[in-house]
Amino acid sequence: MRNGKLNKFWKLGVEDFNTHYFDINSKSHLVVKEGNYQYDFMDLIKKYGSPLEVVFPYILEDRLEVLINLFNSYIKIYRYPGKFYYHYPMKVNQSKEFVLPLVTEGANLETSSANELKLVKKMWEAGNLNDKIKVLCNGPKTKEYLDLVTELKTKGLDVIPIIEGWNEYEYLRQYRGGVGVRLDVDVHIQSHWNHEIDQFGLADREIKKMGKIKNLKILHYHIGSQIEVLKDVMVPLRKAMTTYLALKKVNPSLDTIDIGGGMPIPYDRKYRYSVDSLIESIVKFLLAFSKKHGITPPNIACEWGRYVVAPAQVTIYKVEAQKDILESKSGERKWYIINGSFMNDLLDTWAIHQKWHVVPVNHMDAKKRTRSWLAGMSCDADDKYTAQGSYVLLPRFSDIDPAEGLFLAIFDSGAYQDALASHHCLLPSPLKLLAQNGETKVIRRRETLDDVAKLFGW
Ligand SMILES: *Cc1c(COP(=O)(O)O)cnc(C)c1O
Repeated sequence: MRNGKLNKFWKLGVEDFNTHYFDINSKSHLVVKEGNYQYDFMDLIKKYGSPLEVVFPYILEDRLEVLINLFNSYIKIYRYPGKFYYHYPMKVNQSKEFVLPLVTEGANLETSSANELKLVKKMWEAGNLNDKIKVLCNGPKTKEYLDLVTELKTKGLDVIPIIEGWNEYEYLRQYRGGVGVRLDVDVHIQSHWNHEIDQFGLADREIKKMGKIKNLKILHYHIGSQIEVLKDVMVPLRKAMTTYLALKKVNPSLDTIDIGGGMPIPYDRKYRYSVDSLIESIVKFLLAFSKKHGITPPNIACEWGRYVVAPAQVTIYKVEAQKDILESKSGERKWYIINGSFMNDLLDTWAIHQKWHVVPVNHMDAKKRTRSWLAGMSCDADDKYTAQGSYVLLPRFSDIDPAEGLFLAIFDSGAYQDALASHHCLLPSPLKLLAQNGETKVIRRRETLDDVAKLFGW
């Protein structure tokens, strides 16, 4: 097969699928491109072994730049009088190698806990944050969290706490900066994380009971993650804007709507809606709504985490062995046993039956392929990946020279997986590698038995 055909077969090189950073070289190896430089994953495996997690700050920066430019260009096209603010939700991946490049590229921040805000404090004290950065603080707030908010504000950082409950409302009456309030939007959408009733934010009627909220700047809501239908973004926005309107009458300082997270990743490489069409819809809607109701169009803030960071990390495993699937009705499907663990390293496989885009790292031109199910190394029956009962197409194992081995790549592992990672069966976490400016650097060495045993008091 020619390269173009191979690319198409493995769904590489498609911008809507975030695979335009990847390609196949003349050795039929998977490569990733950084400007005019490219990294051959097989070279990384030869040098560092496997399993591997490889982080590409270049991809992060590119995605954020495109996103900010898209919002700003629609703001310009429609002569929208408000501004756009991107806030990176740190909980999606708190690694320094993710947070710092995003901040450099212009991201503001959003924290979900006192500990994340302590990282912000560290960056601030190290002189890494410029004065203009805005930090939104979400999540239920302990006294420790609120005191830290106050401390950083006093030191000159623009920290904006988002009120989630009455205790926070009471505490923040003394606060000298802008605040936000989180609305629990009363609509149901298709998303694993959208529940009929959840514990976050306040109902519209309760927010209205607060009356005048001192220095209110932002109305925030977060409806769910991985929102797969465009109307599920637009319906909650309309609902939130009716609350905005009522609040604005009592609180003229209110000037920003924060739509939270939710922009999806096409993990299964199916088209959903484009980020372009969504941003245009948001800008157009807010303009028309504001005009109709005679208010100044609000500044727009978003906290899309998964969308920006997932494609910036790839996880690599070796196929250790192959065997038949017992009494499988699925005919020729085989188990491929990998040298890592879905339950430990890619926990969403187990938690939410996440679909992943999986491709071979070598032998990408193999003529014979097998419909495989992937099995992790832990002794847990849940440690597997079957693509939701479908299969993963990979080169036929018996054709592979054992000296060379067969490796596979799982795309989009940059969001959530690392913070959820665990050590079932005392398996070590993969070595983590940074690939930047044509060079690679180990940012987390391969864990030894002693490293893992220490976590359990040995
Ligand atoms: C988790 C979360 C986000 C990020 O959601 P994504 O689906 O990753 O975009 C943003 N805002 C809040 C309040 C969150 O809890």
